Amino acid sequence: AIDNSIPLKAREAWQKYGTKEFESAEELEARFIDHVETTLARSMYNCDNLAAYQSLSSSVRDKLILRWNKTQQLHTVKEVKRVYYFSLEFLMGRALDNAIINLEIKDLCNKSTNELGFRLEDLIETEPDAGLGNGGLGRLAACFVDSLSTGNYPGWGYGLRYNYGIFAQKIVDGYQVEAPDYWLKFGNPWEIPRTEIQYPVDFYGYVSTEKDEKTGALYKQWHGGERVLAVAYDFPVPGYKTSNVNNLRLWSSQPTTEFDFQKFNQGDYTNSVSQQQRAESITAVLYPNDNFYQGKELRLKQQYFWVAASLHDIVRRFLKTKKPFSQLPDYVSIQLNDTHPTIAIVELQRILVDLQKVDWHEAWDIVTRTFGYTNHTVMSEALEKWPLELFANLLPRHLEIIYQVNFEFLQDVERKFPTERDLLTRVSLIEESSPKNIRMAHLAIIGSHRVNGVAELHSELIKTTIFKDFVKIYGSERFTNVTNGITPRRWLKQANPKLSELIASKLGGYDYLTKLEKLQELQNFLEDSEFKKAWVEVKKYNKVRLTDMIKTLTGIEVNPNSMFDIQVKRIHEYKRQQLNIFGVIWRYLQIKATPKEERADKWPAKVCIIGGKAAPGYYAAKKIIKLVNAVSDVVNSDPDVGDILKVVFIPDYNVSKAETICPASDISQHISTAGTEASGTSNMKFVLNGGLIIGTVDGANVEITREIGEDQIFLFGNLSEDVEELRHEHNMGRLTIPDALNQVFDAIESGTFGNYEEYRTLVENIKFHGDYYLVSDDFESYLEAQRTIDKEYKDQDNWTRKSIISVANMGFFSSDRCIEEYADNIWNIEPIKEQV
Ligand code: PLP
Repeated sequence: AIDNSIPLKAREAWQKYGTKEFESAEELEARFIDHVETTLARSMYNCDNLAAYQSLSSSVRDKLILRWNKTQQLHTVKEVKRVYYFSLEFLMGRALDNAIINLEIKDLCNKSTNELGFRLEDLIETEPDAGLGNGGLGRLAACFVDSLSTGNYPGWGYGLRYNYGIFAQKIVDGYQVEAPDYWLKFGNPWEIPRTEIQYPVDFYGYVSTEKDEKTGALYKQWHGGERVLAVAYDFPVPGYKTSNVNNLRLWSSQPTTEFDFQKFNQGDYTNSVSQQQRAESITAVLYPNDNFYQGKELRLKQQYFWVAASLHDIVRRFLKTKKPFSQLPDYVSIQLNDTHPTIAIVELQRILVDLQKVDWHEAWDIVTRTFGYTNHTVMSEALEKWPLELFANLLPRHLEIIYQVNFEFLQDVERKFPTERDLLTRVSLIEESSPKNIRMAHLAIIGSHRVNGVAELHSELIKTTIFKDFVKIYGSERFTNVTNGITPRRWLKQANPKLSELIASKLGGYDYLTKLEKLQELQNFLEDSEFKKAWVEVKKYNKVRLTDMIKTLTGIEVNPNSMFDIQVKRIHEYKRQQLNIFGVIWRYLQIKATPKEERADKWPAKVCIIGGKAAPGYYAAKKIIKLVNAVSDVVNSDPDVGDILKVVFIPDYNVSKAETICPASDISQHISTAGTEASGTSNMKFVLNGGLIIGTVDGANVEITREIGEDQIFLFGNLSEDVEELRHEHNMGRLTIPDALNQVFDAIESGTFGNYEEYRTLVENIKFHGDYYLVSDDFESYLEAQRTIDKEYKDQDNWTRKSIISVANMGFFSSDRCIEEYADNIWNIEPIKEQV
C-alpha cells in the first residue's frame, strides 16, 4: 500500500515507457548528449570539460537512481531493520570515478567519452572534492557507507550539506592561508534535492506544562522561539558488484515561509527578511577543527538541527509500518559517530515522551536499545562539554530531560555504590565546574547499549582511563572494540589501478576487493621474479605520478628514484609533524657534515614529503607548516645536497590528493605520541598500497604489526603505559634534550631557517613547557628507526619482499570487516540480497 500510486489503468504506459538503465556505450552516449542538450541546455559547439563531466555524471547518476529506487522499495516492502549512521562529517572526495568503478563500467565510459571527443581522466579531474569533513573521522564515515552498500546492508548516512566544506589551503610565503571551499559553485550532479522532504526545527523558546484533555495527565510542551526548515538532499551510494544503492541524506537549512507579521506591519520588512536569512547560516560551513572541541553556539545549532531532522525522518518512516514504539529498536539502529550527535538521545526521548506520550521508562528503554556510540579520542581537549547556560537557552526542554535522566542515573549508581560519593560527581552528566558543563560523552554512554573504540589499544584505553567509572557501573559488556578499516574499492582499485590490476592477474580477478583476506595468496608469489619486477614497476609508476603532482603544485622537482618518505594528515602536535621535521633537519645537518665523496654512499637519496591542513586557530600547528616550508626552501636550494635530500610541503591535502599520494610511498610516518591516536586510517591506506611504515606503538599500528609481522614495520618510541610517568617527570623539571635534538634546536635558533621568532613556540614547548608530546623522549629512537630504514632500503629485493608480505596481510583492514562487526555485535542487522 504505497500512497500516491498511479491508477491501475495508467500503469501499462508507465511500464512501456519506464526509464531503462543504459547498458551499452551507444546508450550511454545517447544519454550523455541528452543531458548536454536538455539538462545543461548546451550543444556540441559549446561543451567543455566541465559540461562533459556534468553530463557524464548525470548519466551515471541516472543509473544509480534507478537502482536506488529499487533498493529503497525492497527495503520498505520487506520492512527490514535499517541502520542509520549519524555523522557530522562525510569526507567523500570525488563521486564520478568511484561510481564508475563500483558499477564496473569504466571501459564503457572510456569508450563513450572518447567517441564523444573527451578523455575520461580529464572529466574525473574536473570534479571538485566533496570535502564535508576534517580528516580521519569524516573519511571513516565515507568508507563505511561504501561498505554498507557493498555488503547489501540497509544502511543510510545522515549528515549536513555544508555550503562550504573544509577550507582550501594555500601556502603564501610558507604560511597557511585559508580560502573558502564553495564546492557547489557549478551545481552538484550527484545530489538529488528532495524539496518535498522538509521538516521544521525549533530553537530557544520556553517549556510549559499542559494537561491531556482525555486522560488528565500532565505533560511538558516545548514552544520554540525560532524556526528553520531542514530540506533533504540525497546522495546515492553505490555498492561494488551489487545493485544495492544506499542513501546518504544531508540536510540543508532554509528559512521558513512563516513570517513575523508584527515586524512586517511595523514597516520593518527588510529587517524581517534578513532575520529569516539567518536560518541559512546553520548549514553554511563545516567547523574546521580536527580532534578539538570549540564551544560555539552555531555548532550546537548545527548538531540539533541535524539530529532533529534525521530523527523526524526516521520516526516518520517507522510510523508507516504501524508498529508500536516498543518495536522501534527492531527496525532502527542509530550509530553515533563521536559525541557530535549525542543530543539525538535526548531528542528521541522527547519525541517519545512529549509528543507520542510513551511512558518515560519505557521510552528510555527504547532509546538505549536504539543507540550505539563510537568514541574517537581520549584527549581531553577533544571531549565535548557544552556550557549549561548556552544549552539551556537554545534547548530548554532538552536540558530538563537531561536533568531527569541524570537524576535517575545517579540514583541507580548511588544504590549500587552507596559509599562512593566521589563516583557520583565523576560520572554525573553535569560537571560541577564554574560555569557548569554538560558532559556529552557521559550522556552518549548512558544512552547507548554499546560503546566502542576504534582500535584495540584505544578501546582498552577508554575502559581504563576516561570511562573507567562506567565500566564499574555497567560492566565491561557495554564496551567493545571495532577496529577501523578502509574501503579497498577507493583505496586500492581507484587510487592504484596498476597495483590492483597486477594483483587481479595473480588472484584470478577482482574478487579480492570484496574479500580482502584473499590477498593472502600473494605470498605464493614471493619467489616469482617476474611478479616482483612488476611490483617494483608499479611503485615506480606511482612515484612518477606523485613527482608530476609535486611539480605542478609546488614547482619543486624531485627524483622518483629517491626513497619517498611521506607524512600526510591533519597537522597536530599529537601527530608530531614537529618530530618529523626535526628529524629532517638533523639529517640535513648530518649530510652537510659528511665528506662530499662519502655522502651518496652513506645517505640514500630521499624525498621527505609532508602535507596537511592546520585548524585556522591552531597557532603551533601553523608554525609547524611554516617550519616545513622554510626547511624545504633551504634544503632544496642547497647545491651541497642535491638529490640526496629534498623536502616538500604538499598544499591542500584532501581525499583526491590522497589517492595519488598513498600509492607512492616507500615509507610513511604514523608517529603520534603513544596513546593519543585512536586508530589512524592512512596508516592502513599506505600499507595496502605497498608502502612500509615507521610508527609508534599507537592506534591501529599495533594491529597492523600483528597482521603483517614485526619484520615489516619500523616501530619506535615509548609505550602508552609510560606516557603518564614521563609527563610527570617533565613537569617536575626532569627532562633531557638528547644531543641530536639540541643540534637541531641550535640550527633553528641561529636562524638557519629564517627568523627564530617564527619557531620559538615549537622549540620552547619542548625545552621549557614540559614537552607534553614527548618529542625529546622519542627523538633518539626515532632517528635509530630512520637509520634502520636507510640500511634496509639498500636491499631493494628484501624491501619488495616486505612490501608484498605487508599487502598480503592487510585483509583485516577492509571496512567491509568493520561493517560486519558492527552489524553482528551492535546493530543486529542482516544483509538484504534480493531485488524486487
Ligand atoms: N585526511 C584525508 C584527506 C584522508 O584521506 C585521510 C585518510 O585516511 C585522513 C585525513 C586520515 O589520516 P590519518 O589516519 O593519518 O589521520
